[in-house]
Amino acid sequence: MKFEVTILGSSSATPIYNRNPSAQALNINEKLYLIDCGEGTQQQMLKFDVRASRIEHIFISHLHGDHYLGLVGLLSSLHLNGRKKPLTLYCPELLKEIIDIQLKSSETELQYAVEYRFTDVGKAEVILENQDITVETIPLDHGIGCTGFLFREKKRLRKLIKEKIDEFNVPVQYYPALKKGADYVAPDGRVFENETLTIDSATPKSYVYCSDTLCNEKYFDQISNATLLYHEATFLNNMLERANETHHTTALQAGQIALKTHAKRLLIGHFSARYKTLNELLDEARSVFPDTELAVEGKIFAIE
Ligand SMILES: [Zn+2]
Ligand SMILES: [Zn+2]
Repeated sequence: MKFEVTILGSSSATPIYNRNPSAQALNINEKLYLIDCGEGTQQQMLKFDVRASRIEHIFISHLHGDHYLGLVGLLSSLHLNGRKKPLTLYCPELLKEIIDIQLKSSETELQYAVEYRFTDVGKAEVILENQDITVETIPLDHGIGCTGFLFREKKRLRKLIKEKIDEFNVPVQYYPALKKGADYVAPDGRVFENETLTIDSATPKSYVYCSDTLCNEKYFDQISNATLLYHEATFLNNMLERANETHHTTALQAGQIALKTHAKRLLIGHFSARYKTLNELLDEARSVFPDTELAVEGKIFAIE
């Protein structure tokens, strides 16, 4: 199953040095999910060949402008382009009011339904479940209400070991139960334990999106063992005081978080406008967690 993320925006606060504010597009089994939608996201989608019409779910972490100011523009364009398919928005409750007043001001009535699922910063909860994935909110620590999102593949059924199935003449009608973990009892009464006939499917992969937040242990358990952890790294650690004041994380802390939560790989982003080049941020995170990459716009990262 395809599971990959395209970076559309990696800048904090303002667009600068060809970097756009936060936005990412996840492709999971050929379904598109948009995470955050900073100003300019539509242009970024055109540039990097992400088809907006295919998006069915949009997740907004919080109401700082660098995470949602592109959203009304996107919703309007979908309307103008004749969208009929409903769209679900997972976001803080206040965003509905912001969208409604903008649409009302231009006397726009969208041709498609927008369904809302409001996030609750007070608790982690599953906000979406379909045949491919579950999505959980991650309550973060950012001054204003902010949630990250945890995308996890559904656990697949166990796989039959063909040679064993043939060897013990297991009838085909038992296959579904075997795949779910049942033992097989043969007509002569012999019991074949499930483990002799099947193997476990691969561990479900996960993508964790943490932006924006102060480094705070409260969410560490929930994000542990991420296949790919995206974590904001707004500043270098020599700006730790500023990071704490503004409820952000440093590149060093992002590396430490990846290490502590046993991430497989780390992706850092949400870079401050003070950094024209990003090598120092990357080096700093890699000094504690070598398997770190920069969330460079246009790059696609497979979650594997
Ligand atoms: Zn931000
Ligand atoms: Zn913010």
